[in-house]
Amino acid sequence: MRAVDIIIKKRDGNKLTEKEIDFMVKGYTSGDIPDYQMSSFLMAIYFKGMDDYETSFLTKSMLNSGDILDLSSIDGIKVDKHSTGGVGDKTSLVVAPIVASLGIKVAKMSGRGLGHTGGTIDKLESIPGYNTNLDEKDFINQVNKIGIALIGPTKSLAPADKKMYALRDVTGTVSSIPLIASSIMSKKLAAGTDIIVLDVKVGKGAFMKNVNDAKELARLMVQIGKNMNKKVVAILTNMNDPLGYAVGNNLEVIEAINTLNGKGPKDFNDLCINASAELIYEAGLTNNIDDAIKLAVRQIENKEALNKFIELVKAQNGDESYIINPDKFEKAKYIIPVISNEEGYVKSIDALSIGIASMKLGAGREKLEDKINYNVGIIINKKPGDKVNKNDILAYIHSDFKNVCEINDMIINAYEFSNTKIEYNLILDIVK
Ligand code: URA
Repeated sequence: MRAVDIIIKKRDGNKLTEKEIDFMVKGYTSGDIPDYQMSSFLMAIYFKGMDDYETSFLTKSMLNSGDILDLSSIDGIKVDKHSTGGVGDKTSLVVAPIVASLGIKVAKMSGRGLGHTGGTIDKLESIPGYNTNLDEKDFINQVNKIGIALIGPTKSLAPADKKMYALRDVTGTVSSIPLIASSIMSKKLAAGTDIIVLDVKVGKGAFMKNVNDAKELARLMVQIGKNMNKKVVAILTNMNDPLGYAVGNNLEVIEAINTLNGKGPKDFNDLCINASAELIYEAGLTNNIDDAIKLAVRQIENKEALNKFIELVKAQNGDESYIINPDKFEKAKYIIPVISNEEGYVKSIDALSIGIASMKLGAGREKLEDKINYNVGIIINKKPGDKVNKNDILAYIHSDFKNVCEINDMIINAYEFSNTKIEYNLILDIVK
């Protein structure tokens, strides 16, 4: 077999066999196939696509390129939740403790943020002391002991995806449905859980800009999971606007703590409750979704989810006093209001612009090796549907530098107004 023949076959729009796909993935992971041939192969997939079989073969090859976690020594049902990436998305910090507080085992590996999207691991690392680097043994022991562990990705899981994703990032081949589906599912399947809830983001701040593409991505990921005997549910959610009010690492942790205290923003709280309910229902704790929603709400009201989060932070060496008293989190040097020069009802807030503005403040990374600042970011003050008068405060910039003119303009330009109050739909569809 030769890589060039496989590239030409896909370039001409033909279907590839399992062996051909495996040859490319194995060859690239081992270093036998160079970056230029893999780039060309990825670009051919980007333009010509892959059918469900090819995408499943690609997922399987990437999954088998490294270790597959064996969670069989953990009793009971193990669950995971994954977001395709958004702005202000701190959902895992609330969903994981809600379901773990009900005895469902959460064994979760999360990623770091890149570009305008944030990552759960960076947010957790903004809690002083929190260790995201447990080895496999400690990870499993902790889930057995307290029912939850949230760590960063290990090098040994799906190494092919790691290498291919880095290449896609610099070759304009990220936003391809079969490539995204296989990338996400290879990692999720390697992590070994029984049930996976996928939060597929749709809109300006997401990889999928329209509902039809997002539905296709969701359908494909659910199908790949089912082929591997996993229960997978995909929730399609709005990512035109940032989720909640807070964007930036410790600012988002504080918002997650407020939500666990029953004081979360409505959109964010609704998503956390609905995502938790899907996991609770699929894990068999209730016979229907309505009861699962009630259980999730109860775990916030009775503070059991908050206590589980405190237990998690403590178990992973974090200083739990920050969770008990979030005022302890270090603040940015400057907190600067963004003043509206328009009036009307907020129609939308471009999540992509807000994500990039937050990255420019230092909350995110342009390149994987960039260092981030945990204390900076943006607090939205006026959300879609809110009435705004001239000179009202739209948002607050939390910055370690004083001159924030560019950031201020980006935020002002991200706001779109209308004369009438708009309806805001957070959950667009559920695919099972
Ligand atoms: N997240 C991933 O893990 N992979 C992709 O391809 C896109 C988003």
